[in-house]
Amino acid sequence: MMCPYCNSDSQVTNSRPSAKHPEVWRRRACKVCGNIWTTRELVDLSTTHRVRTTQNRLEPFQRDKLFLSIKDSCAHRKTALMDATYLTDTVLTHVLQQNQSEIPRGQIIKITALVLERFDATAGAVYIATHSD
Ligand SMILES: [Zn+2]
Repeated sequence: MMCPYCNSDSQVTNSRPSAKHPEVWRRRACKVCGNIWTTRELVDLSTTHRVRTTQNRLEPFQRDKLFLSIKDSCAHRKTALMDATYLTDTVLTHVLQQNQSEIPRGQIIKITALVLERFDATAGAVYIATHSD
């Protein structure tokens, strides 16, 4: 990976898989300027998972779409952005545990509603109100 400070080549100095989420955390160092930074390697779900819509179409899974719907449901919280980041990871972990590369939209909504309700009752209620078909 190119150094974000000087665009030179970098090397991995430490690497740790996450116990909770399907991701790898890496510490990198620039070979030229010596700066150090962290990267997270995530599964690109748009290449591995598809969503079956209510119109019975298949669409690539979009992490950003899920993140935004969770962030909107947490809008009443001061920490909405950070909450949505962690809650999206939690929902994705549950989605991957289904062991299905094709997931009905309704199932994603059900999982997300459960995660949000457990975290914050208002967020759960807002999500369900905006996602009931
Ligand atoms: Zn550099």
